[in-house]
Amino acid sequence: MTEFKDLGLNKRVIQAVEKENYSTPTPIQQKLIPHMLDGKDIVGTAQTGTGKTAAFVLPLLHRLEEGRRRAKPRNCTNLIVVPTRELATQIFQNIATYGRFIPHSKTVVMGGAKAGAQIKALARGLDIVIATPGRLEDHLSTNSISLKETQTVILDEADQMMDLGFFPAIRRIMDFLPDAHQTLLLSATMPKQVRGLANEFLNNPIDVSIGQQSKPIEKINQKILLVDRPKKKQLLVEILTNVFKAIVFTRTKHGADKIVRYLREKGIDSTAIHGNKSQGQRQRSLDMFKKDRINILVATDIAARGIDIDEVSHVVNFDMPNIPESYVHRIGRTARAGNDGIAISLCDNSEVDYLKDIEKLINQKLPREKVLDDGSRKEVFYDPMDDRDPSLKIKKKNSRSKHRNKSLRGKGSKKFKPKLDKETDKNSIKSGKKKVKKKKNKKFYAKLEKVNSTNLSDEFVKDNSKKKSNNFKSSKQKKKTRSEKSYKNQPKANDRPRRKIK
Ligand code: AMP
Repeated sequence: MTEFKDLGLNKRVIQAVEKENYSTPTPIQQKLIPHMLDGKDIVGTAQTGTGKTAAFVLPLLHRLEEGRRRAKPRNCTNLIVVPTRELATQIFQNIATYGRFIPHSKTVVMGGAKAGAQIKALARGLDIVIATPGRLEDHLSTNSISLKETQTVILDEADQMMDLGFFPAIRRIMDFLPDAHQTLLLSATMPKQVRGLANEFLNNPIDVSIGQQSKPIEKINQKILLVDRPKKKQLLVEILTNVFKAIVFTRTKHGADKIVRYLREKGIDSTAIHGNKSQGQRQRSLDMFKKDRINILVATDIAARGIDIDEVSHVVNFDMPNIPESYVHRIGRTARAGNDGIAISLCDNSEVDYLKDIEKLINQKLPREKVLDDGSRKEVFYDPMDDRDPSLKIKKKNSRSKHRNKSLRGKGSKKFKPKLDKETDKNSIKSGKKKVKKKKNKKFYAKLEKVNSTNLSDEFVKDNSKKKSNNFKSSKQKKKTRSEKSYKNQPKANDRPRRKIK
């Protein structure tokens, strides 16, 4: 079994991970660290919560300890660029933890914080700068920082850094780097087009990939609740009444605020984090949630990536994300470091297409339940016909709309059935149609089995995976036993006193 010392890391780095009770390196750490120490450019993908941060921070610290060369004033030796301020702050804290025995200098350069203090810190010259693109560009334009001496640049959540919003800025930033430098691109998702774009920044890169691309970690129990939009809020209250610690994701900032207000009316305390809040408010909300002062965080996708909070038992998608990759990142806020987690997504009529896109991305059909008028739930099987030849699908679509138009024309709009009802109808086929249903279900189970067996072939759970993940878990558990914080040790949801609903 590979140990940290087998990876060629400096003993002070190893001392720090031991202090964190990490007994063995995770698969991404085992694979990535040696290549990074060799100075290679790397594209690294691994599932959420599997230790990517340490995978790139430990080699950085190792080099600082072995090299002991101070950065020149207004220069930085290593640059880490991330999409959100919260992630920048978290990586700063992680470096402090892993670098506790190694003298090093670092700062965070991000919007929403005073530029003066950042300029002062940069003026000294730094070993590591963690930055968000906008503020970094500001400092580059005023020569508060130069990247001429930068040896390593890391783009964390690289696929997001290369989407339309960030890409021009990233390109300009990369232009400031010297010819000889090492580049790392890391994420849990890496769409093909993005991987193509990335080539312009890479020199003979090594692809380090753990597990199936864009696949949520197996430890997350995922469920879709098909529900009419007006009933979502009430359903959310029901779900949250029984959770230990949850993040609720909404698509809009306004939507997040509305949910916080609604929950307050129902006697449930929560706090929101989104782009319309000041940085102080954002950080306070996150800290309160981290420190268990409040157990429900309502967030936009600002908190979907990279944020590592212990013991998040549930992720609830109040709105289905319209970008399928966001689903993987959102639900990846639970089941971190070998723990279990639950992801519940509320999907209304208008969001069924988003759901299909997600299932396509993760190559997995998600268990669905339809929430009925009386609040009870009924299992719904997806339509195996959806997996047919796409040309047939178009025909099906056309015939559906023909039928729909006909019924609208002939018998009034009552006959206009929403998509979800059609799906449930398939479940309640009368006896005459039972044979057809059986056949469909057979197909469904065959498909499910296929999907499950593909899951099992993931590298993260392969061969001695049990041992590995146990180790991964046990180190974390040790830590938790010490702090007696694990939510597994908490009374089960149903044992907890129920919150009063006004
Ligand atoms: P990350 O994916 O970097 O956000 O890490 C997810 C969680 O895994 C964090 O809480 C880390 O503290 C933890 N972690 C990272 N590396 C290890 C390791 N080798 N053993 C146990 N836990 C780890």
